Amino acid sequence: MYFLTERIRRYLEKAKVDKRGAVLLGKYASADGHADGRIIRIITHAHSDHLIGLRRSIAELPLIAATPPTMSIVEELGYDIPLNKRLILDYGVKVRIGDETLRLEPAKHIMGAAQVVLEDSEGERIVYTGDFKFPGTPIIEADVLIIEATYGSPRHIRPFKDRIEDIFVELVEKLLKINPVQICGYHGKLQEAMEILSRHGVKCPFIASKKVYNITKACIKHGLNIPQVYSEEDVESFDLLRSSHIYFTRRIKKIRGYSTVILSGWEFKKPVRELGKNTFLVALSDHADFEQLMEYIEYSKPRIVVADAYRNGSSRTLTREIYKRLRIPAIPLPL
Ligand SMILES: [Zn+2]
Repeated sequence: MYFLTERIRRYLEKAKVDKRGAVLLGKYASADGHADGRIIRIITHAHSDHLIGLRRSIAELPLIAATPPTMSIVEELGYDIPLNKRLILDYGVKVRIGDETLRLEPAKHIMGAAQVVLEDSEGERIVYTGDFKFPGTPIIEADVLIIEATYGSPRHIRPFKDRIEDIFVELVEKLLKINPVQICGYHGKLQEAMEILSRHGVKCPFIASKKVYNITKACIKHGLNIPQVYSEEDVESFDLLRSSHIYFTRRIKKIRGYSTVILSGWEFKKPVRELGKNTFLVALSDHADFEQLMEYIEYSKPRIVVADAYRNGSSRTLTREIYKRLRIPAIPLPL
């Protein structure tokens, strides 16, 4: 049971997560889920659990807002947003809607990811982090903070988080000496993996499944810094496939003679775990771990925290810990 004081009730009128996963911000905006009667739907980033009800929002709401890369990725995923509804927002650009203003600020997560900052008519600031990694995401001071809770339990701490990029690159380089490597992960994380490998000097060709290729191309257009990537459709007849290369895919393919690296954030004990012959799980995460969530909250100095309980995570534990450690009232929503 959560005891709602009058003050908390007043804040929850300004910001909450509803039963359909919509993050309601002020009077006019909804993020990452559909809510009837809103003027604007904001897409914080292009992961599927943040695109809930998007087709309905496109059909029914006047405005759909996102950063330029997110808008491109969402299009690649098959959403058709009419030009007159599109509000493409660069980070930091303020938009006034009625008596409220909103803007997007960067979130380190996947390309184009954003936090939403809304100032309401009473001068109070509501911040929704969306998904984020830390450090690399600017902390924004808030009156009401809505935060993701993916790794919201004190058990969710990755002691090796500062070394994980080097460990990942070393493993891939070692495997490439023997076999081609396939790397499996979510959209966004695969492009991050490409960027990490290129930045560390891995030079072999990158080949991607069709959808991953299309999304990668959209990311390159918006500044993802990697050399050439090939679509699997283009290279089937190439000699390229016989030489050393990395194949990027959403789903593991059963292909002989490949080593497999699966990217997953749900590993806290070891940076690399051997799952089977030539198959490894690497704990490369796109989310803040528990310690980093607490650090964000502490410096954001909110009067109340709402933890997103709709999406996968440990929102209830997180809210208990926030109150215990920081003495800030916190509530998971939806209840
Ligand atoms: Zn995400």
